[in-house]
Amino acid sequence: MINVILFGPPGSGKGTQAIKLSKSLGLIHLSTGDILRKAIANKTPLGIKAREYMDKGELVPDTDVAQMVVNAVDRNAGAKGFIFDGFPRNVFQARFLDKMLEERNTSIHYLIALEVNHDELIKRLLNRAKIESRTDDNLEVIENRIKIYFDQTFPVIEHYKSQGKFYPVNGVGTVEEVNDRICKILTKEE
Ligand code: ADP
Repeated sequence: MINVILFGPPGSGKGTQAIKLSKSLGLIHLSTGDILRKAIANKTPLGIKAREYMDKGELVPDTDVAQMVVNAVDRNAGAKGFIFDGFPRNVFQARFLDKMLEERNTSIHYLIALEVNHDELIKRLLNRAKIESRTDDNLEVIENRIKIYFDQTFPVIEHYKSQGKFYPVNGVGTVEEVNDRICKILTKEE
């Protein structure tokens, strides 16, 4: 199995790269943001609850997200591996993920961290707001999401760095250029 965490601040291009990689490597793309947006669209109890957090740019409670991830992983038992996009988003979630994978006799192999400067992030997110109608893509909520990223999500890097699994990648460039940079890491012989 090969399990990858695609990591980075909101607007760093995780989703775009995750879709490409899941196709080229045959891995399951597991996006917690996408699962939550689907729950909101279907007005499920989880969706109704999650919306209140997402609209403010806050994290949805860990227990809800953790259960969602377990369900998605177990639905895909036998998969070649997973690309985790938007999860883990804090150290609690990282510990949870490690334990869950260990119980299934596997682990995380790479944390690919997309690095994009603050001004470029804001530019991309405001531009996406014009194209998609995500209720969390307005300047105030965007700034809150970036702040939460640096306060709560960024420490996840240290968690995987200490395991020797941290791989930073320059996230500025064309989609193809960034994809090439990631593929070079994932296809390198150990
Ligand atoms: P982005 O990375 O651009 O913020 P996502 O689609 O990954 O977009 O996430 C959108 C929102 O969904 C987050 O701001 C948060 O409210 C919620 N969310 C997604 N993944 C998680 C998670 N692992 N834990 C808690 N909340 C999450």
